[in-house]
Amino acid sequence: MNTLLSNIGKIITWQSERQSMIIDSESDIMIEDGLIIKIGQNLGHADHIIDCQGNMVSPGFIDSHTHPVFMNGREEEFQMRLQGATYEEIALAGGGIVSSINGVREATVDELIGKVQNRMDTFLSLGTTTVEAKSGYGLDLESELKSLYVLDKVNQQHNIDIHPTFMGAHAFPPEYLENKDAYVENICQDMIPKVAEQGIAEYCDVFCEKGYFSVEQSRKILHTAKQYKLKIRLHADEFVDSGAAELAGEMKACSADHLMAISDAGIQSLKDNQVVATLLPGTTFFLGKSSYAPYKKLKLAGIDIALATDFNPGSCYIQSMPFIVSLACIYLKMDILEAFKACTINGAKALELENGVGSLEKGKKADIVIWNVEDPVEIPYNVKESLIRDVIKNGKSVK
Ligand SMILES: [Zn+2]
Repeated sequence: MNTLLSNIGKIITWQSERQSMIIDSESDIMIEDGLIIKIGQNLGHADHIIDCQGNMVSPGFIDSHTHPVFMNGREEEFQMRLQGATYEEIALAGGGIVSSINGVREATVDELIGKVQNRMDTFLSLGTTTVEAKSGYGLDLESELKSLYVLDKVNQQHNIDIHPTFMGAHAFPPEYLENKDAYVENICQDMIPKVAEQGIAEYCDVFCEKGYFSVEQSRKILHTAKQYKLKIRLHADEFVDSGAAELAGEMKACSADHLMAISDAGIQSLKDNQVVATLLPGTTFFLGKSSYAPYKKLKLAGIDIALATDFNPGSCYIQSMPFIVSLACIYLKMDILEAFKACTINGAKALELENGVGSLEKGKKADIVIWNVEDPVEIPYNVKESLIRDVIKNGKSVK
């Protein structure tokens, strides 16, 4: 059985042959067995036709940086922050990451599955068809394995594609605050081997930042992860330049993320080692800061740039990639097609999935958003409205 997307207004997509984003206004798309098999005119008979009524279509979004495995939101902490509370005051009141850690440690697998399932429904309805998802609110062996198990279970049941990351090095858990190196040892000697044995995580991520994991500690964790065949990604240079982007280059990471405080040497290292720079403007926005990542500098250096949500309960409670497109255009001064490139094919590159998803091309997964708009500019312009008419995942309408 095949499906034809007909009467498409504009197709916006990366095209490998031309090595650029294109706007195609003449073509239909034929889908079979969940894949795009033809794009062009007069594609012949179809068992099923979806009339796009002159509207635009794009690839499904690839959200390459999320933290969805937690129990509850942290609205009380948000409220305290609005009233001027410091990080320490929030922590003393039982807020901050510790509350998420307690939540995950105490939760049953089924409770967590319910939460993550609902979040995946939201991602998909907002046009995200592939999502990277990190553990990192368990921070002990059992709770980290539980978090990854939950991601695997939801992935099996859900239409969205989830690519799990082990992030035991998200923060130091309360029981190790006085002996941080011992926690690094615990990650390397105990957690990573067991995570590899479990066989769910594809990547290992570390929060490499002053006050979190040092460059030396991060290097040690990432070296161990590599030995166990996990791919590498990093939270790098979010608050200060700590040399994390240089480490991402040295470790040949798939992606270095945040980068608000990246140095020139860091930029050079990403460039030399072909590391994708993943920018997360939602976090800067949500925290009410003005220090957006230096998009223009990274672009001038010729680095591939991806955009993602960083969805998490503390610093960025945002799941919408269309909203991230708005932020990227408004605050990073990204061109609209560049923003789409960053949310689709470059998101796929940041996950090393660019051969299967991220563009509307023959042989790729039929992961497609049908919009209620005729022109891409309407998406960042309508900051808040949902302009998605339909989401096609593996060739089937799922919205
Ligand atoms: Zn993050």
